[in-house]
Amino acid sequence: MRRPMVAGNWKMHGTRASVAALIKGLGKQALPGGVDVAVFPPGVYIDQAIKGLQDKKVAVGAQNCAVEQKQGALTGEVSPEQFADVGCKLVLVGHSERRQMGETNEMLNRKFAVAQAAGLVPVLCVGETLEQRQAGETLEVVGQQLGSIIEAFGVEVFAKAVIAYEPVWAIGTGLTATPQQAQDVHAAIRAQLAAKDPEVAKGVRLLYGGSVKAANAVELFGMPDIDGGLVGGASLDADEFGAICRAAGN
Ligand code: PEP
Repeated sequence: MRRPMVAGNWKMHGTRASVAALIKGLGKQALPGGVDVAVFPPGVYIDQAIKGLQDKKVAVGAQNCAVEQKQGALTGEVSPEQFADVGCKLVLVGHSERRQMGETNEMLNRKFAVAQAAGLVPVLCVGETLEQRQAGETLEVVGQQLGSIIEAFGVEVFAKAVIAYEPVWAIGTGLTATPQQAQDVHAAIRAQLAAKDPEVAKGVRLLYGGSVKAANAVELFGMPDIDGGLVGGASLDADEFGAICRAAGN
């Protein structure tokens, strides 16, 4: 049985004051014991979130990391070891907003590897654009994004990783994949992993991301291969995010 996970990606939102208010709001939520809950604040607020959420069993992660594991001469970057040093447990790898900025599968392979080497759990984000979906290329695109990691490091690395399927056309748009559309891609991802190692495939958590809200979470999380969600906009509202977490615990 896979333990569900709900993760909030705060993206580049927040101020010290609004982060404090969000943490306070999360503190009031009844979070289900059977669900792993995580948040990904902007880097400058990670320490504030870790301190504010330590009694709440909410893990904190980074939205991105450098391609190098250790500290060094890489101006403007933060290494996975540094994120681990301040208490981060996870890191997003390959969010579509970063792929759109030019991050290639090769760069993301390196980020994935150095994140794991530093003891962080990578959350590998995959997903197709609207054009790719309309051209019938969804499974090919997602298969290549996932296959890049499998070819480089073997499927075993997913024993200590999470995968988030996030159709680009559903991120921040209010459009959500139907539960069946999401399930079809999740099943294909699991089958791709199972072709190499059925045990790894059975254990890995596959999150859906793309305009998840309390109103659609129960249906999405009810699908057999959807193990929770990666939530953007709705994670900035503590009550809404709490309700999404509770939906994963049903
Ligand atoms: C995301 O940024 O990962 C995301 C899924 O955003 P939203 O929930 O706002 O679509």
